[in-house]
Amino acid sequence: MVEIKTDAAMDAMREAGRVVARALAAVREAAGVGVSLQELDEAARAVLAEAGAGSPFLGYRPSFAPVPFPAVICTSVNDAVSHGIPTGYRLRDGDLVSIDCGAELDGWAGDAAITFTVGTPRPTDLDLIDATQQALDAGIAAAQVGSRLGDISHAIDTVARKAGCGMPADFGGHGIGRRMHEDPHVPNRGRPGRGFPLRHGLVLALEPMLMAGGQNTYRTGTDGWTLRTTDGSRAAHIEHTVAITDQGPRILTLP
Ligand code: MG
Ligand code: MG
Repeated sequence: MVEIKTDAAMDAMREAGRVVARALAAVREAAGVGVSLQELDEAARAVLAEAGAGSPFLGYRPSFAPVPFPAVICTSVNDAVSHGIPTGYRLRDGDLVSIDCGAELDGWAGDAAITFTVGTPRPTDLDLIDATQQALDAGIAAAQVGSRLGDISHAIDTVARKAGCGMPADFGGHGIGRRMHEDPHVPNRGRPGRGFPLRHGLVLALEPMLMAGGQNTYRTGTDGWTLRTTDGSRAAHIEHTVAITDQGPRILTLP
């Protein structure tokens, strides 16, 4: 069931979203060559704790997962697309890193992801990040009252295709509110003019995951969580929580 939020609820979600943005900024600030993924998780944990926020990631166990998620961020490096568990791996020069983070504040959730490079970037990685950001921007621009869910999906897919990138077929965005994952599912591929009608108060997490190799297939790592490209190509994942309003899309996970 899709829950439509009140204006007060959207304002409350904005505060949860601010905490997510602060945590992601702290992770990015802490990241560098030689820094471990667990240290990035600690940086995010400190921000959540200071804000009095909980983590919807910590202990999360969807049906596909063999163990509860052990951290407050997902850290997905190079050929990892998403859901990577922070380990003792230390970042190396040229790594491509996606960080996904959620927060729960006063009973409301926020969810966002960023992708960045460490040290000297590969130009192709910068292009991939740029395409992923453009795909998200297109999805947000399509998130208008009177349009439909398929318009968002189609907008994201159009940018990904133009960039020659693949996207993992089974994963996409989602409704968000009191829980991080609510209805509806937001596919990153779809037909314009189809699907759930967008209206004031619908809040969605939009999250294109682009894979540079152009394939739409992925494999799950031995940890049962990490999604990796099947061709070993690099991937980027950028996400915002977005409220659809009569005044246009409102991004709730900006700083
Ligand atoms: Mg996320
Ligand atoms: Mg999400």
